[in-house]
Amino acid sequence: MSTEPSPSIFSRIVAREIPAEIVHETERVIAFRDIAPQAPVHLLVVPKTEQYRDVVELAAGDPALLAELVATARSLAESHADGDFRLVFNTGESAGQTVFHVHAHVLAGGVHEGSLA
Ligand code: 5GP
Repeated sequence: MSTEPSPSIFSRIVAREIPAEIVHETERVIAFRDIAPQAPVHLLVVPKTEQYRDVVELAAGDPALLAELVATARSLAESHADGDFRLVFNTGESAGQTVFHVHAHVLAGGVHEGSLA
């Protein structure tokens, strides 16, 4: 199982210690553009807390926060594309997860022929 230094890279974005193109922020959630986009619109929607490493832990620990991530994804897909989107939670290292601070990939703007993130 992978471990990641704390604070995570996403916590460092929340703290403005490293730059990111932030597109949305609330008390509990932040969203910014992925540094290596896999679709015309590729945003990451992230709880500000790094206590949940993946979506399974988040769903068990704070389902309301998971619901806020999903609602944020919908809202961002509407403001950045036509409203349709692919929502990806890579879960585990062999599934491609590299940052163990739960995050949703929001892929939009013409992703139906693209690959998954
Ligand atoms: P995962 O592979 O864990 O599902 O997704 C991690 C994502 O974070 C990747 O798509 C990667 O491009 C993105 N990422 C990694 N480091 C940074 C960074 O410093 N800034 C931003 N904006 N995205 C990052």
